[in-house]
Amino acid sequence: MTSHMIPSVSSSHSPVFFAPEHEMLRDQVRRFVETEIKPHGEAWERDGMVPRDVLRHMGKLGFFGIRYPEAMGGSDMDERATVVFAEELGRSTFSGVAITALVHTDMASVHVWNAGTDAQKTKWMPGIISGDVITAVAVTEPGAGSDVKGMRTTARRDGDDFILNGAKLYITNGVHADLYCVAAKTDPDGRASQSVTIFLIEKGTPGFTVSRALNKHGWRCSDTAELSFDDCRVPAANILGDEGRGFYAIMQNFQNERLVLGAMAMGEAQAALDMTVTWCRDRQAFGAPLWDKQAIRQRLAMLQARVEACRQMVYATAHRASLGEDVVKEVSMIKALGGELVNEVMYDCVQFHGGMGFMSESPIERMSRDARVQSIGGGATEVMLEEVAKRM
Ligand SMILES: Cc1cc2nc3c(=O)[nH]c(=O)nc-3n(C[C@H](O)[C@H](O)[C@H](O)COP(=O)(O)OP(=O)(O)OC[C@H]3O[C@@H](n4cnc5c(N)ncnc54)[C@H](O)[C@@H]3O)c2cc1C
Repeated sequence: MTSHMIPSVSSSHSPVFFAPEHEMLRDQVRRFVETEIKPHGEAWERDGMVPRDVLRHMGKLGFFGIRYPEAMGGSDMDERATVVFAEELGRSTFSGVAITALVHTDMASVHVWNAGTDAQKTKWMPGIISGDVITAVAVTEPGAGSDVKGMRTTARRDGDDFILNGAKLYITNGVHADLYCVAAKTDPDGRASQSVTIFLIEKGTPGFTVSRALNKHGWRCSDTAELSFDDCRVPAANILGDEGRGFYAIMQNFQNERLVLGAMAMGEAQAALDMTVTWCRDRQAFGAPLWDKQAIRQRLAMLQARVEACRQMVYATAHRASLGEDVVKEVSMIKALGGELVNEVMYDCVQFHGGMGFMSESPIERMSRDARVQSIGGGATEVMLEEVAKRM
């Protein structure tokens, strides 16, 4: 069984939240997924990376400039377009490809755009948008993940430079990126929220090494690395935004990041449900298709109802975010709900595929592995629920 057999079933998108330009984008991404991702995804999973020419192709089609101004080569769209992009990449069934692109567009390069000086933007944004410069964001450390304030990497001032020492863990695009947004404490004795600064660091900077490529349960074609900074000298001109304001920049961008992860999760869940309905209609047991068993089709129907509800919440929240509303509570709900729901969907979809669901040759096996991290990365469910509870 190959991914080519996966039906492309359209879901109900809301004309309330989307304009024709969003639907055009959706069609364009969906075409790219069918012709450029699905036929090659398995090979990239084996290679542990998405080839750079594929990322350049995405850049050429405008996918990396969705949120950036036309003057920089982008198309100046809003959160709704980002959600469309993430959802369609999630539907590809190759979430490792999705996360490779989405970390670049919505989790790393956004720091350059949001906080960069004119000089930094002029230097980096055209390459970021074209896909010639791939970005990574390095916040997590061996001793600090959910608790960002616990980071230990330091940046000590030395004249016009800073000297970084420390390590970063689980960094997506960490092996193959060109440009890294690295968080470090510039005042290790100060209050954590006032002492984190983000630095732009290029691959090849002396003292900065990719210490190892990490092997993982899912997202296998997305490269993930541990990074090491050993007396790494970086000019003060490479600071992104104001010194000591990095913690707030990270927290601010978490909102966009979590919305994107929610949209991606609902794309994954929808693809799994579509695939499983098709499977159950074909697969015979006890003299009839599995779909004839009420227990099975009702379970899938309830999952479809929940996925639809979560997806509509993603759309509504993207719409509200595009109007400038505060959606921290909703985004945290989406991350918690979507991250758990996609795993529930995968569990049942594997179950109804029977033995085939456990075979590496079936897409649902890969998809269930890929989904596991959705309740952990970018804000674990429990951490998200605390954000919701605080606002209740
Ligand atoms: C594949 C992958 C890619 C990643 N990419 C990046 C990247 O590009 N850049 C980057 O900076 N980071 C990245 N991360 C890191 C990711 O965001 C963290 O793994 C995540 O924030 C959780 O941190 P942790 O792993 O240190 O878990 P911990 O913080 O040690 O938490 C472990 C578990 O404890 C529970 N927990 C934590 N806090 C609470 C609480 N307050 N209440 C109750 N339970 C709690 C949760 O279940 C959590 O999963 C990536 C991680 C993975 C796995």
